[in-house]
Amino acid sequence: MESAYIGIGSNIGRKTDHCQRAIFLMGRLEGCSVRAKSPFYRTEPVGVEGQDPYVNGVVIVDTDLSAGMLLKRLLEIEADMGRVRRKKWDARVIDLDILLFGSRIIKTPDLIVPHPLMHLRRFVLTPLLQVAPDLVHPVLRRSIRELAGLLPEDGQAVETYGRS
Ligand code: ADP
Ligand code: MG
Repeated sequence: MESAYIGIGSNIGRKTDHCQRAIFLMGRLEGCSVRAKSPFYRTEPVGVEGQDPYVNGVVIVDTDLSAGMLLKRLLEIEADMGRVRRKKWDARVIDLDILLFGSRIIKTPDLIVPHPLMHLRRFVLTPLLQVAPDLVHPVLRRSIRELAGLLPEDGQAVETYGRS
């Protein structure tokens, strides 16, 4: 059994509903249970211009699945929910990323864990801080609280949005 930390994002349509639905579907996966949910946040898109704001959150999923199998199931949920991949960082109905998988370090062509940008993103660290402040990043060897404290003060806007 491992604890997987999943980043959730949506910036098309009924964004909070999409995030809620994805959490529900993750909870129904065989060998998975949702242990904790962060609040949702309304966040400014990063790296692109002219897109709608995102709703972001993080959940902890306890799982018997391997990381590779969990990724496969998450990509199936994205597809079932109508996500169409056009180009990198395009607007999306739902995005499910494996941020951390226990303290494992994984580098395959399809999966990199810890997620390589997680420690730089306020839209990841702010919700993650709510559910796992003392969790230590296995590569950087700093807690989520420490990593959140290192983000630039004038960075991306992230506002509380509601309970997940
Ligand atoms: P992004 O989340 O970076 O905007 P996508 O959601 O379109 O990009 O994901 C593209 C691919 O990223 C996935 O098909 C998957 O194989 C790969 N990937 C690599 N590492 C991860 C990870 N930690 N979590 C989710 N997907 C990952
Ligand atoms: Mg993704």
